[in-house]
Amino acid sequence: MSRIAYVNGQYLPFREAKVHVEDRGYQFADAVYEVCEVRDGRLIDQRRHLQRLQRSLSELRIRPPISWGALDVVLHEVVARNRIRYGIVYLQISRGVARRDHAFPPVSVEPSLVVTARPLNRTRNEALAASGIAVVTVPDNRWGRVDIKTTSLLPNVLARQAAVEQGARDAWFVDDAGAVTEASSANAWIVTASGAVVTRPADHAILRGITRMVLLDVIKAQALTFEERSFTVKEAYAAREAFITSASQIVLPVVRIDGRPIGDGRPGPLATALRREFHKFAEAS
Ligand code: PMP
Repeated sequence: MSRIAYVNGQYLPFREAKVHVEDRGYQFADAVYEVCEVRDGRLIDQRRHLQRLQRSLSELRIRPPISWGALDVVLHEVVARNRIRYGIVYLQISRGVARRDHAFPPVSVEPSLVVTARPLNRTRNEALAASGIAVVTVPDNRWGRVDIKTTSLLPNVLARQAAVEQGARDAWFVDDAGAVTEASSANAWIVTASGAVVTRPADHAILRGITRMVLLDVIKAQALTFEERSFTVKEAYAAREAFITSASQIVLPVVRIDGRPIGDGRPGPLATALRREFHKFAEAS
């Protein structure tokens, strides 16, 4: 079956789905995006993803290209037309097409909207979660507003490539104080030797992950010991468990950091349980 993408009002075969050479997303990364998990054809946590999108747009003063109701229709239509049961839907909104000039274009310029979807391989993802992943740490050299979900992801690209070149799956960014901020496309967590679940507060230095927010509800509901605070790389090396969270990876155990085994070097029981229970809690919360 051929893939379909939505581009500025049209559902197009992938081959024909293109944006203009002077789209500001293409030229300046003057664009925001969202990624939602699709399960049984449904968008998981859609409301929170769209709330975050609204915030990203408003922080950058990009106006929504279509109404929220229309966007809801487009997202479901792209999922349906691509026959996605289990996968992800991606949406991107740029400030639009205009003659290249750094300052904002006239207000008459329409923002651009692109929506795509693709299936994920559930068997492969579950196998990855069962074995856990290795991460390496890299200096966090991103701009000061990574809480806005922009397509400006070059440091994330370079971090992930550095990880791959060292035989790891992902990279954890580390700030000037030696504290972990987040992973290249996920939030970072540890479980300390005394059993406390720790993740960094959602300030301007990390993206406020939707999976992170849902997991906070789960942690509260289960009355787990939780500390929302920064943690250092040293503390992570000594952790009992480590894991990352994102819409496409859910809860993914980390079993090695910079080549050092975490805990006994296998996925931890808490991370594994949180992954298993995630959707039940997500729906209940
Ligand atoms: N941090 C970064 C840098 C990300 O790119 C992502 C994934 N979009 C996340 C965290 C996790 O966010 P979410 O749980 O909403 O997917």
